[in-house]
Amino acid sequence: MNALISVSDKTGIVEFARALHALGVRLLSTGGTAKLLADQGLPVTEVAEVTQFPEMLDGRVKTLHPKVHGGLLARRDLPAHMAALKEHGIDTIDLLVVNLYPFEATVAKAGCTLADAIENIDIGGPAMVRSAAKNWQDVGVVTAADQYAGVLAELQAQGRLSDQLRFALAVAAFNRISQYDGAISDYLSSVQFEPEKLCETYVPARKLFPDQANSQFVKIQDLRYGENAHQQAAWYRDLHPAPGSIVTGRQLQGKELSYNNIADADAAWECVKSFAQPACVIVKHANPCGVAVGKDAHEAYAKAFQTDPTSAFGGIIAFNRTVDKAAAQAVVQQFVEVLMAPDFTPEALEIFRPKVNVRLMQIALPPGGSTPWEQGRNAIDSKRVGSGILLQTADNHELQLADLKVVTQKQPTPAQLQDLLFAWTVAKYVKSNAIVFCKDGMTMGVGAGQMSRLDSARIASIKAQAAGLSLQGTAVASDAFFPFRDGLDVVVDAGASCVIQPGGSMRDQEVIDAANERGVAMVFTGVRHFRH
Ligand code: 5GP
Repeated sequence: MNALISVSDKTGIVEFARALHALGVRLLSTGGTAKLLADQGLPVTEVAEVTQFPEMLDGRVKTLHPKVHGGLLARRDLPAHMAALKEHGIDTIDLLVVNLYPFEATVAKAGCTLADAIENIDIGGPAMVRSAAKNWQDVGVVTAADQYAGVLAELQAQGRLSDQLRFALAVAAFNRISQYDGAISDYLSSVQFEPEKLCETYVPARKLFPDQANSQFVKIQDLRYGENAHQQAAWYRDLHPAPGSIVTGRQLQGKELSYNNIADADAAWECVKSFAQPACVIVKHANPCGVAVGKDAHEAYAKAFQTDPTSAFGGIIAFNRTVDKAAAQAVVQQFVEVLMAPDFTPEALEIFRPKVNVRLMQIALPPGGSTPWEQGRNAIDSKRVGSGILLQTADNHELQLADLKVVTQKQPTPAQLQDLLFAWTVAKYVKSNAIVFCKDGMTMGVGAGQMSRLDSARIASIKAQAAGLSLQGTAVASDAFFPFRDGLDVVVDAGASCVIQPGGSMRDQEVIDAANERGVAMVFTGVRHFRH
């Protein structure tokens, strides 16, 4: 077996090459890599020796030669290909290990010039990677150091790479090439042609958002239409989706998911995932219209539904616990578009089976941990604006009890604190301006998406009234600060006895004074959760 190793980033390469050598693999290499391996006592043949052509033009031409590309591209199953290799004295190359000139890192450096950038466009590396990946049935192509261990494990275990691994490596290789060419094209498109100023005017998005550089999308399915019937649409997922995100789910039954179903389902799922206790979230038009925690899924649902039975009609419902018979029997009474849960008992599935239109989605909860990824959350959020895109790190802030600052004479009771935290968690998932009244682990009134915070407060209270709920003694969350005392007065008039809000307004004191005057407890979070 022949391996050609040509790497710019030499991390781990000596150990990898040593292990290949121990397996009897013959090593070929380009100048710098060959020198490193030879210095470490490994027997290595320089590509220049094979091609009988020196590396030239400052390394621009090293491996661009039929002896290399013939060895990579020849189909081992075609006698004519193998005869051609023999005729021209070409050996097959069965394993290619390449990582490319560091173009992305070069242009991310302050003061990088156009000449620096151009010199760091790898030519021969991507050509070899493409040749090897195209011929994946015969050649393994390794393009990242984190693939070394998996490749070695297979070679050590079975002396060859499996079809499955070679194919996966080829897919990863083309992903890498497309990302690399994307970085070159992005860079060149965004510099102005003033060579001496180059890179000063260029702030590469990939530098600010390294994760984004790795984002590749894979189509899940075409959708019948988009937000409206005249719009075309499709659903894509990240190449490596966060565990526990909606794209990792499985539809168990029901009509095809629509564009709006998916958007709403995501809102419900993201919200329900935030609770440790059994919880239920009902979403309509991207806003929660009922959220509750309870001793089990059934109780959580019953409470969430009570918040706003009118809006819950045709809702998207998410649970963070298995849907059992009792929960299913309750949910099946209402018209539901999508129902999501980590699992369903057989009895629950039986109850939904005749409801052929109800879309059941089974989605595993994230494994949990300290990073957003482990919590099933994306690191980056994006939004299209005209012909541009806005990128930001996602709103993954989680409030801790210790972050709260009580700003009033009145201290919240432990029960009030719990409701305040619950209300705050819900408010994060309600479109701004968000006002959320809660009590005993359930939403009592949700005011969403208004241009004025006062109107959101009024709407929340009107909705509570319509649902026959009293807001007396409720905890209320406001996703952003009250700019004046009037907002506070509206929520206290409605019945709130404690308030959670970010604080940070220039009139905080006016609002604190109002809270003291009205005899309510108020806590500041120091963070806000706009959601647009
Ligand atoms: P080395 O450090 O071994 O001298 O060079 C390794 C780098 O050269 C790798 O990043 C590889 O992608 C790149 N490379 C290999 N062949 C060629 C070629 O023919 N032209 C150019 N421009 N780069 C090459």
